[in-house]
Amino acid sequence: MNRQWLFLLLGIFLPLFWTACHEDTPPPPPEKPEQPVKPAKQYAVPAFDRDSAYAFLARQLEFGPRVPGTEAHAKTREWLVQKFRDYGFEVLEQKFDQKTFDGKTFEGVNIIARYAPAESRRMMLASHWDSRPFADSPLSNSPDQAVPGADDGASGVAILLEIARQISQHPFDGLGVDLVLFDLEDYGESGGSEMSWGLGAQYYARHLPPIAPQYGILLDMVGAAHPRFTKEQVSMTYAPQVMNKVWHLAQSMGHKEMFVNVPTGPLVDDHYFVNTIAGIPMIDIINRPVGTKTGFVKHWHTPQDDLSAIDKNTLGAVGQVLTAVIYREASRSF
Ligand SMILES: [Zn+2]
Repeated sequence: MNRQWLFLLLGIFLPLFWTACHEDTPPPPPEKPEQPVKPAKQYAVPAFDRDSAYAFLARQLEFGPRVPGTEAHAKTREWLVQKFRDYGFEVLEQKFDQKTFDGKTFEGVNIIARYAPAESRRMMLASHWDSRPFADSPLSNSPDQAVPGADDGASGVAILLEIARQISQHPFDGLGVDLVLFDLEDYGESGGSEMSWGLGAQYYARHLPPIAPQYGILLDMVGAAHPRFTKEQVSMTYAPQVMNKVWHLAQSMGHKEMFVNVPTGPLVDDHYFVNTIAGIPMIDIINRPVGTKTGFVKHWHTPQDDLSAIDKNTLGAVGQVLTAVIYREASRSF
């Protein structure tokens, strides 16, 4: 073999040998390009229309007191369900037979209006749609009369209807919203068991919809002039982060006089049952004025809880704060 052949053979086999020796350390995988973090879509907060909310409130009163078992109650329910369907919400009517403290039985109906029902990230806004059959406040002059429930019931429902209308005109992705109207909130026994109140909310908390919301905000008596929404104790015990965030946002929007950093005692309202039975953190936005005998507004559980008890300004402020909560949540900036 001459040198030329040797070099030729080395030239062929050396690289092969070299490659073989290195086969046990595989080359590093090609580097994956960094996945860019998709920024959340930003949604502008639409302007809540207080005149529209006021009209929704007045319309409820036209049916008469929404007392369970009455025609006014049935007609109001039909109207509410149709309204939410008109705004593109999926509506579940959650029916239940309910015995009340006075031995009667009613068919209660919780109205659950769902925006983006398949969305797993969800929040809930709620109010009660029934009105109290007895105007039995110590300040009432006709305890046998039914309460018109302009502030106590209709004000919260009116705000939720206007929010539904806003959502239908300004849709968003990535967040589901449940607007829940509880029935039989206000059929409780004065001075009796706390379990006689919030009957619809108790049923809801034991029979949650297919995808339950992660947290909730309850509206109760959100229509009177110059309200004082305090940091109620059940809300602060079970959902302090939600309450602090909502109050902070409301104050930053110029409503420091309405949303005050004052703690007040616990209330058995619908949110109590959603917190304690379902374990869903829920706050209560409820008017706790200073210096009234009952601790509530003077027209509470009296025949004077009618349209004259309502101030559009309050409807507008509460509605705009909640609209901001929803659109910020959709933009992941709440
Ligand atoms: Zn009430």
